[in-house]
Amino acid sequence: MPEAALRLTPGVARALVEHAARCAPREACGLVAGACGVASAVHFATNVADRDDRYAIATGEQMRLRAAIARAGMDVMAVYHSHVDAPAWPSPRDVALSFVPRLPHVIVGPVRGETQIRAFLLDASAPPDGRIAELRVAVGDASAAPRA
Ligand SMILES: [Zn+2]
Repeated sequence: MPEAALRLTPGVARALVEHAARCAPREACGLVAGACGVASAVHFATNVADRDDRYAIATGEQMRLRAAIARAGMDVMAVYHSHVDAPAWPSPRDVALSFVPRLPHVIVGPVRGETQIRAFLLDASAPPDGRIAELRVAVGDASAAPRA
């Protein structure tokens, strides 16, 4: 298993799966926010892609969501989207569109199957075998995280 982990509260995990199911057959997308290394909030975005099996978040909405997250004293911890029929693994297009290599990408899928939540660091500029690095997804209560 990969060592680096993305920590999600159970509520976030549930919200991601529910949003993905609600949007099907379109892909769902949005941002996951949190503080102190635990993702505790999901910000749904409108998928403005021209096809159901792609996703895009309008720049204006991204800026609004990021501002709301900052106002709440949180950080953007991941971008997420769903795969309706494909497994929770980045498509070549997902990699090509990842312009923030250090921001984890969460993929929820397949919605019409055994839905998993997986997270990746994507780097389109890396050599082909280094473009996708999976992160461990740890689902647990924030109170279970180590306290400072
Ligand atoms: Zn995708």
